[in-house]
Amino acid sequence: MRWMIILAAAGVLGAAAAQAAQAGASGAQLHLKLSGVPFTQVKIADDFWSPRLKTNREQSLPHNFEWCEKTGRISNFDKAAKKEGKFQGIFFNDSDLYKVLEGASYSLSTHPDPALDKQVDETIARIAAAQQGDGYLNTYYTLVEPDKRWSNLPVRHELYCAGHMFEAAVAHFRATGKRTFLDVACRYADYIDTIFGPAPKRNGVPGHEEIELALVKLYQVTGNEKYFKLAKFFVDMRGRPEGRMRWDDKEKKLVPSNKTDGPYNQDHLPIVEQDEPVGHAVRAMYIYSGATDVAASTGEKGYIDALGRLFANTVLRKMYVTGAIGSTSHGEAFGKNYELPNQTAYCETCASIGMALWNYRMNLLHGDARYADVVERVVYNGFLAGVHMEGKLFFYVNPLASRGNHHRQPFFDCACCPTNVVRFLPSLSGYFYAVNDAGVSVNLYAASTAQVDLKAGKVRLAQQTRYPWEGAVAISVEPQKEAAFEIRLRIPQWAMGDSTAEDLYQFKQPPGKDVTLKVNSQAQALNMQKGYAVISRTWKSGDKIELDLPMSVRRVYAHPSVEADVGRVALQRGPIVYCVEAVDNGPSLKHVYLPAGAELTAEHRGDLLGGLTVIKAAGMKRTLDGEDQKVDLLAVPYYAWDHRQAGEMMVWLPEDRKLAAAVAKPTIASSAKSSASHKWGRDALEALSDQIEPKNSCDHDVPRFTWWDHRGTKEWVQYDLGKPAKVSSVSVYWFDDERRPGQSRTPKSARVLYRDGQDWKPVPAEGELGCSLDKYNTLKFQPVETTALRIEVELKETFSGGILEWKVE
Ligand SMILES: [Zn+2]
Repeated sequence: MRWMIILAAAGVLGAAAAQAAQAGASGAQLHLKLSGVPFTQVKIADDFWSPRLKTNREQSLPHNFEWCEKTGRISNFDKAAKKEGKFQGIFFNDSDLYKVLEGASYSLSTHPDPALDKQVDETIARIAAAQQGDGYLNTYYTLVEPDKRWSNLPVRHELYCAGHMFEAAVAHFRATGKRTFLDVACRYADYIDTIFGPAPKRNGVPGHEEIELALVKLYQVTGNEKYFKLAKFFVDMRGRPEGRMRWDDKEKKLVPSNKTDGPYNQDHLPIVEQDEPVGHAVRAMYIYSGATDVAASTGEKGYIDALGRLFANTVLRKMYVTGAIGSTSHGEAFGKNYELPNQTAYCETCASIGMALWNYRMNLLHGDARYADVVERVVYNGFLAGVHMEGKLFFYVNPLASRGNHHRQPFFDCACCPTNVVRFLPSLSGYFYAVNDAGVSVNLYAASTAQVDLKAGKVRLAQQTRYPWEGAVAISVEPQKEAAFEIRLRIPQWAMGDSTAEDLYQFKQPPGKDVTLKVNSQAQALNMQKGYAVISRTWKSGDKIELDLPMSVRRVYAHPSVEADVGRVALQRGPIVYCVEAVDNGPSLKHVYLPAGAELTAEHRGDLLGGLTVIKAAGMKRTLDGEDQKVDLLAVPYYAWDHRQAGEMMVWLPEDRKLAAAVAKPTIASSAKSSASHKWGRDALEALSDQIEPKNSCDHDVPRFTWWDHRGTKEWVQYDLGKPAKVSSVSVYWFDDERRPGQSRTPKSARVLYRDGQDWKPVPAEGELGCSLDKYNTLKFQPVETTALRIEVELKETFSGGILEWKVE
């Protein structure tokens, strides 16, 4: 704040001078190309988001409060206040309540509600009572390990919880003007500031980032530079081991470790040296957001460049077409470049929210619409699928293909996602506009009204549109007084059709129609700057902009290096990514493909799931005899999946018929009833005989059966044939994910048994069933007549195992 005043007094400073002046630590966001327009100044009144916001307020918010209460998340504070009682839940559960309070505060900002206000006040009082004399506040440590505060930064999330408290307290203060929560937050932040910082204080960083961006908010609302400096310290110290401490259990105290936490926590290198997003995806988004906040204030080139590299790698190598990130459940993490499997995609809802938080900040930092393109991609797709339209069911994981066994849940033991949804949705209108001295940028489109404060004066902007279903957007411009300024309209990349060969998602056909722009009915040439069509003129009340974005159905192709999507196509119309579901297309989607030339038509269905536009296509069903059958395909927006009957779903449809499974001819295996000694929830027995050919033993895109989480045990699977059949050969394709790396291996040994009366006997064969990788292991034997076959395995020590396909002849 201090620097801002000095620099303003000094008049215009060159960028280099301003940067030099900022080399210290100041929180004034001098280096932003744009400033956000708060969500309280933008009122959405449309058919798409308005019902979602209402549901969030009226259903999701009370639902999450209830779950926090009944799972002990709130009573943990009462117990911590008395320092007695048993801590309930996971060690970071405090953060969930903070996020719900943040959401409640946003709701109070726009929809005053005395009952909610009272509930929030009472909850804050319970939190405040748990604050320790020195300002410390964490119910897990106070109740469970009171002498071990800050002893396990990489894992235990104390600083993460603190960060969510600060964000909630700032939101509450802004919404109500009450200092009750803010004072608690400041006391805690002041205490943390006595522990962490440059020597002689301690070098340490949170294992789960979040406190960095939260401290910046705390600084912005209090003007206390100490908080900004601490935020910058935490950002600066990532990847820097000197002076790091660890807990020594023998000595019962902290001792020097001089070690970082490594890539999982983005702690392998200083941020300024990082090029590629790695590790836990949510953590990455939060630290990049915090680093962007720091860069916005200090202008440090090292950060700006590193964030640019991280952004490029994310959107060119590691982002799903839905805007979601984090391709692997192993560590909820980023995979390798182009490793974007569909069925096993992790795509945590929180990571999608993180993408929006970070790209919003990058848009402000650079004034470039391509970051707002990412925000749009994620909010309509990867994020929105995370919450059921009725507001009380949530996805944690958002795969892009499903066998029909993945469903939203009311809550989770680890409840980061539902509580994150509750705080993100009510702030959505804050992503619509951004301003600078020259004028206003329109980043998102929806029927809405906004009050923006420009240097040229106050302006009311009213959008009339049926976006995202229709591309026509009319904006009434009502400046308080006639004034000259810019209005910059984001032209989404999907409307332009100019993808390049390097893009992760490419359109091979143009959109069919050009973007058109009119001001007061006069056609305007598109004056494109950084992804915006810029209109610079003197505006007077009653002026009207008409933007028309082509809403043709687009075929999207992934970069050829994305193995999971080779030969496949996704459908997109406007910002919406589509999927096909069994409920509309019959139960066996795996047989279906969409030929390259098939016509695609859009149709609005007011009756379906609150009203949405579907895509119809002439698809084909692959049969074994080559006489493929025509099928009418119907695709719905991805966000709307799993709202009706459970069943298969896929986003990436085969265009190449070979990728569709041929309609199975009945075989001994496919007619059999399968059972097993043990099976893992997500892994289905049907996988054994689904006739979907694996590419290799580590193929995560084909259904599998596993004995997970049994390890090193003896297990079996069995086919009951129903009636006696003559069999003479079995072939087994083992599952083994050592390459991923996972915890399943081919078994140590395997044998084939058949039922003879009441007994199980080994089939009469020379040798045993093989346990080789990446192929069918076939055992031929003298024909036996039997009613059941069984494979018995001995799993390798410490490992589990499984089967991708089991054929019988
Ligand atoms: Zn989450």
